[in-house]
Amino acid sequence: MTTPNVDPHEIAKFDALASRWWDPEGDFRPLHDINPPRLEWITSRTSLTGGPVLDVGCGGGILSESMARAGAQVTGIDMAGAPLTVARLHALESGIEVNYLESTAEALAATHAGRFRTVTCMEMLEHVPDYPATVAACAELAAPQGDLFFSTINRNPKAYALAIVGAEYVLRLLPRGTHDYDKFIRPHELAAAVRRAGLLVCEIAGLRYNPFSRRATIATDVDVNYLLHARKP
Ligand code: SAH
Repeated sequence: MTTPNVDPHEIAKFDALASRWWDPEGDFRPLHDINPPRLEWITSRTSLTGGPVLDVGCGGGILSESMARAGAQVTGIDMAGAPLTVARLHALESGIEVNYLESTAEALAATHAGRFRTVTCMEMLEHVPDYPATVAACAELAAPQGDLFFSTINRNPKAYALAIVGAEYVLRLLPRGTHDYDKFIRPHELAAAVRRAGLLVCEIAGLRYNPFSRRATIATDVDVNYLLHARKP
């Protein structure tokens, strides 16, 4: 690939917010709130201790650290340097070992194809220029029979109302401009990209988040946030 599959404007946004990553009341509050149910969803579908785990677009490491705490040997990759610095410091403070690298999934796939028993790529696909290429790179990185987990935001009027107007403008849960509606991905589009990457779609589930109670639960409705579990044949 000649141009890396990275949007510099997106990376700059995450770099600027990095210091707030681990504030449970701060800009990444929703990620803190959704982490326990998504971690449980993942752990009940793969063996986190069964082989190396890769977290693509790990940011400050909320999911990476929680998987390492569950006994996984985790590599976290991201293209934003500042969140990675925060992630490394936080892991050090927590006494948790995670291997953080500045890399795209595509670049890592050139040297580490087939190495990971589990690959996670959460809340990241809606920030890259070409998400099917990221999905394909994740597929390459996974070992045969490996499990892959993606999550993103659906594209429809309800998702626009809740994920952008509600979260960024009314409730100010997320900084304005965090999400771009056009980059949201419908479940059938993600499923198609997953199949084109040679993976099997195992399950799609919704992730419901109540910003008032701050409760997040796995649900059947995929109208706004959702997760997809895939397996490499
Ligand atoms: N996955 C984490 C963080 C999500 S925020 C979680 O769910 O808790 C999205 C992250 O994707 C940011 O840290 C951003 O820097 C990263 N990102 C965006 N484009 C990327 C790319 N092309 N390659 C790697 N990481 C990328």
